Amino acid sequence: MKEFAYDRAPDIPTALALLGDDPDARYLGGGTNLVDLMKTGVERPARLVDLAALPLDRIDRAADGSVHIGATVTNSDLAVHPDIRRGHPALTRAVLAGASGQLRNMATVGGNLLQRTRCPYFTDLTGPCNKREPGSGCPAVAGEHRHHAVLGASGHCVAVHPSDLAVALTAFDARVTYETTDGTGTLPFTDFYLPVGDTPHRETALPSGALITGVTLPPPAPVTVRSTYRKVRERASYAFAIGSVAAGLDIEDGIVREVRLALGAVASRPWRAYAAERALTGRPATATAFTDAADAELAAAAPLPGNAYKVPLVRNLVVAVLTELAQEADR
Ligand SMILES: Cc1cc2nc3c(=O)[nH]c(=O)nc-3n(C[C@H](O)[C@H](O)[C@H](O)COP(=O)(O)OP(=O)(O)OC[C@H]3O[C@@H](n4cnc5c(N)ncnc54)[C@H](O)[C@@H]3O)c2cc1C
Ligand code: SF4
Repeated sequence: MKEFAYDRAPDIPTALALLGDDPDARYLGGGTNLVDLMKTGVERPARLVDLAALPLDRIDRAADGSVHIGATVTNSDLAVHPDIRRGHPALTRAVLAGASGQLRNMATVGGNLLQRTRCPYFTDLTGPCNKREPGSGCPAVAGEHRHHAVLGASGHCVAVHPSDLAVALTAFDARVTYETTDGTGTLPFTDFYLPVGDTPHRETALPSGALITGVTLPPPAPVTVRSTYRKVRERASYAFAIGSVAAGLDIEDGIVREVRLALGAVASRPWRAYAAERALTGRPATATAFTDAADAELAAAAPLPGNAYKVPLVRNLVVAVLTELAQEADR
């Protein structure tokens, strides 16, 4: 491993100053992704700025009911927090569906959002990869792409985003807050991750050097309280999704008043299913309407030869999750 400098920042201004505009410096959250990538040589930082001592480890509810989750809150602490469990159960389920207990004890909210893709070519330094080395090519398109994208991909990169938490945050209109030396900023989740286009190495809209300070959830509403997250993976635990759905459903007199849907492991970023939401809002909450909504979203799918299975998988997942939420509403 390349030698690097290590500093533990006592406060946010110091963290920003230590990172400065050095392209070879990195913030360190729990280290569960960054340190792995350093061991394999994908990441070769000259400086690590450890965020563990920053005052960003709290979950606070504001007077209007919105909840701010600090960037260094661990995934484990997030999953057990009563405000999240009550107001946004989909978020709790998404966090608990990820990684393992030990990893969740270390992993932070900020680091989870910025974890890198699990495309095997990304970590194979012997071959090309546009995300790791812009312009070098994408061997996954003609190679191994069983787990790759079916929506919104480009010929430049077909990798999927691996975070479960980010899918739930995308469904429920959360915002990312950050600091730079120029001040405070905020981004809705739907704008936080960039479309892949021809720049797969540029993954988020964060300004350079920005420190994520947290995530803000809007106040709980019927559509967030009756919500869930379901993930399909190749083994029962300790595996990334091959398809996932975060959903919330508010039904009145059998009619869908509001619905939130986001899909995971199908695109370079968590995929907010706006077409499905539009197709379902105002319709009777029936299996036919749920299927039509899933089809409306997946009409844009462009699978590769090896991952066409994901389209029916996600379609069935959307219908199953909406049916489950509708049955809960009936009880
Ligand atoms: C075996 C294994 C299985 C896993 N399974 C899953 C899974 O099923 N689902 C899932 O969602 N995740 C899974 N993960 C990923 C895990 O959740 C992430 O590794 C973890 O969330 C990253 O958090 P961290 O705090 O350790 O980040 P770090 O590794 O410390 O950092 C990751 C990146 O974020 C940057 N960063 C960290 N904090 C900030 C901040 N506040 N501001 C700006 N930049 C920041 C770092 O510079 C780095 O680039 C798995 C990981 C492993 C090793
Ligand atoms: S899919 Fe993306 S990450 Fe994977 S090899 Fe292609 S460019 Fe690299």
